[in-house]
Amino acid sequence: MIPTLTAAEMADRVRSGDLRAAEICEARLAHIREHDPAVRAFVTVMEPEALKAAEEVDLRRKSGVALSPLAGVPIALKDNLCTRGVETTCSSKILKGFIPPYDAAVVERLRAGGSPFLGKTNLDEFAMGSSTENSALFLTRNPHDPDRVPGGSSGGSACAVAADFAPLALGSDTGGSIRQPAAFCGVVGLKPTYGRVSRYGLIAFASSLDQIGPFARTARDAALLLDAIAGPDPRDSTCLPDPPPAFAQALDRPFEKIRVGLPKEYFGEGLTGPVTSALDRLKSELKDLGCELKDVSLPHTSCAIPVYYLIAPAEASSNLARYDGVQYGLRVETKDLIQQYFKTRSEGFGREVKRRIMLGTFALSSGYYDAYYLKALKVRRLIYEDFMKAFADVDVLLTPTTPTPAFRFGEKVADPLQMYLSDIFTISANLAGLPAISFPCGFDGALPIGAQLIGPALSEGRLLRIVHEYQKNSDWHLRRPRLARRDASRVGTAA
Ligand code: GLN
Repeated sequence: MIPTLTAAEMADRVRSGDLRAAEICEARLAHIREHDPAVRAFVTVMEPEALKAAEEVDLRRKSGVALSPLAGVPIALKDNLCTRGVETTCSSKILKGFIPPYDAAVVERLRAGGSPFLGKTNLDEFAMGSSTENSALFLTRNPHDPDRVPGGSSGGSACAVAADFAPLALGSDTGGSIRQPAAFCGVVGLKPTYGRVSRYGLIAFASSLDQIGPFARTARDAALLLDAIAGPDPRDSTCLPDPPPAFAQALDRPFEKIRVGLPKEYFGEGLTGPVTSALDRLKSELKDLGCELKDVSLPHTSCAIPVYYLIAPAEASSNLARYDGVQYGLRVETKDLIQQYFKTRSEGFGREVKRRIMLGTFALSSGYYDAYYLKALKVRRLIYEDFMKAFADVDVLLTPTTPTPAFRFGEKVADPLQMYLSDIFTISANLAGLPAISFPCGFDGALPIGAQLIGPALSEGRLLRIVHEYQKNSDWHLRRPRLARRDASRVGTAA
């Protein structure tokens, strides 16, 4: 019974005394012990910590203390979020053994609210990738088909929710890393507006793009988690100073007429048949819910990938300069300091991370800065303006989240460009700083298909309400994978 409860239901039952938080937590941990050896969503399972946190919630309830909305609801955390006293690896060899002395702001808030942390989830090294195959630790398998990738970079968090290890998980999204794995794993994933959620304690990839956001099965659960993590934080200077609205509470307001734009650039070539038909069906279902559909155009869409692959690596090359073998994790000892930097970074970083550092260093080097980096910034502005023009006519945009459902292991690793193209529909929202949500809208055989809604800045509430309304009238989000029990470590190896 417990496995199919939503986070909202768990929270209600804990509050009413129907279920103990410790019971819920134990059940999730048992489920992880049984099935995670095949999926491998977790880098670290925090069993004792989680149980202790759950027991504390039960004690608080007994003593009559009012509980916060997510008290007792277990959560999985992407392993690029700092957790005090618990190893945080970014799935990189270079951070092996790094134990943060502090919690990320989002972790701190959830901890204070009584969320037991089940563990830290696998990702592409430093969140660079689209399949979690770039993890230096191991592969994570899509719970819907163990021969396929879960997406990335937050693959472990998406799997944790898809496999019912946790009703909620946190991920980070720099160019699609929440929405793309959410689509591949058949769950809801939301990238909030840039500035909505504090990134204090999120290990930085590309600081002008990174956002933390929720994974959940339902829009309501995603709203509850967003409520818990959003809001000002003086420790992240990009974090907006205004208090956010109450997202979960607003879900049940009457559903007013919404104008949905269909950007023609997102429905062209490259979409597989099943993705096109799932989106066609979704369009007519949205019409039935009272939405008005309108064709629009975002003419600079084709520039998004090239712009992203200049800006994101440029920022990454700067952010990753701190891993020198002196301050964090791995140190390859040599007599000469420069050699130590060199050897530590050569051994500690994987191929994709090195590729990004080289791309970024090149784009920022004098002589090329204006031609590449500065130009990319200018085109980024044009991409933003496309959205602003579109939002003069429509309230939100509907697109597929990805051109295809989850691909097979190894299918794209040899060709970085093919891998980069799997984010073709998600990257623009990061470049423009806009909120976007992915939600399940169909299946291709066993494989989930995701749709994406992109809205103007600070319109998370609207995006969540549309998905909530849709989920009241559909059941794609309730389809669960049949979990295998095979030992994943024997099949394939991590890159
Ligand atoms: N897949 C994209 C990349 O490799 C986006 C990653 C992300 O959003 N963290 O950079």
